[in-house]
Amino acid sequence: MPGPDSRIYVAGHTGLAGSAICRRLEAVGYRNLILRTHADLDLTDERAVERFFAAERPSHVILAAAKVGGIAANAAFPTEFLSVNLRIAANVIDSAWRHGAAKLLYLASSCIYPRLTPQPIREEALLSGALEPTNEAYAIAKIAGLKLCQAYRRQHGFDAIVAMPTNLYGPHDRFDAESSHVLPALLRRFHEAKEAGAPDVTVWGSGTPRRDFLHADDLATACLAMLRGYSDAMPVNIGSGSDISIRELAELIADIVGYRGAIHFDPSRPDGTPEKRLDITRITALDWYPAIDLRRGIEQTYRWYRENCARETATV
Ligand code: GDP
Repeated sequence: MPGPDSRIYVAGHTGLAGSAICRRLEAVGYRNLILRTHADLDLTDERAVERFFAAERPSHVILAAAKVGGIAANAAFPTEFLSVNLRIAANVIDSAWRHGAAKLLYLASSCIYPRLTPQPIREEALLSGALEPTNEAYAIAKIAGLKLCQAYRRQHGFDAIVAMPTNLYGPHDRFDAESSHVLPALLRRFHEAKEAGAPDVTVWGSGTPRRDFLHADDLATACLAMLRGYSDAMPVNIGSGSDISIRELAELIADIVGYRGAIHFDPSRPDGTPEKRLDITRITALDWYPAIDLRRGIEQTYRWYRENCARETATV
């Protein structure tokens, strides 16, 4: 278990998950976080990663860095989603083990489960069926990262553990219209429609797919619970325990933003997997429960968006 002076490297600390994990680590008294921006350390550069680990020798590593994006970005850039994420996982996991890290937590994703699988999805469903084509490249890279963790554990006794977060949202997310995930995309679209007095807003797909949304701050407390109390090859789902349709999400966001116009659905856009709700029995056995209800979490994220991005994105 890491102590307050443990040297903890959080890879991806500027992103949605990584920034929440850093906030949490600092809030509970960890004083020795090791952080590098993308400009300072390119995690796809094997030699640079090796040099960094040789110099810093972190005792704990949280691998929250990844090339991520929503359904459209995944479908449009499979090369980057596969290649970049494979290289990040291979470089960081190998260097962490080679330079004596005591523990590594790898963040995988709920999209690595089969497209059609019993709900709520248990960890045992991994590799039991075909993947969702719209995010196959990302999923294959994340499955490879997970398998690397299991391989280093089995072959070298390296304490690498794997979390499977559901669809995350919160501050420090990306809110660009085309390549972001659904929740930030809709927050921005409804906000801009309200500001412009637009009569309607278009939401992609049929509105029927169901998703399990978790605030990144809840993910962060789950990651700490795993760092402190989990050491096993089996990955651990981290979800909210419930789900909501995209139509219901759009209506909730419209209500929070205060948008009163019409909502249209565009069936020419992909739906992705029809449902994706995680079984959270394993993580709740570590005495973790989600604390942030969806409406409150979206309200807080919307405040953050208005304070940090709304002016900037309005001019794009
Ligand atoms: P996924 O969970 O991997 O499919 O990732 P996303 O967060 O990108 O998309 C979830 C669902 O939201 C899909 O069914 C999309 O069709 C739907 N959706 C509706 N409007 C949007 C939008 O503006 N952006 C995105 N990314 N998805 C949208």
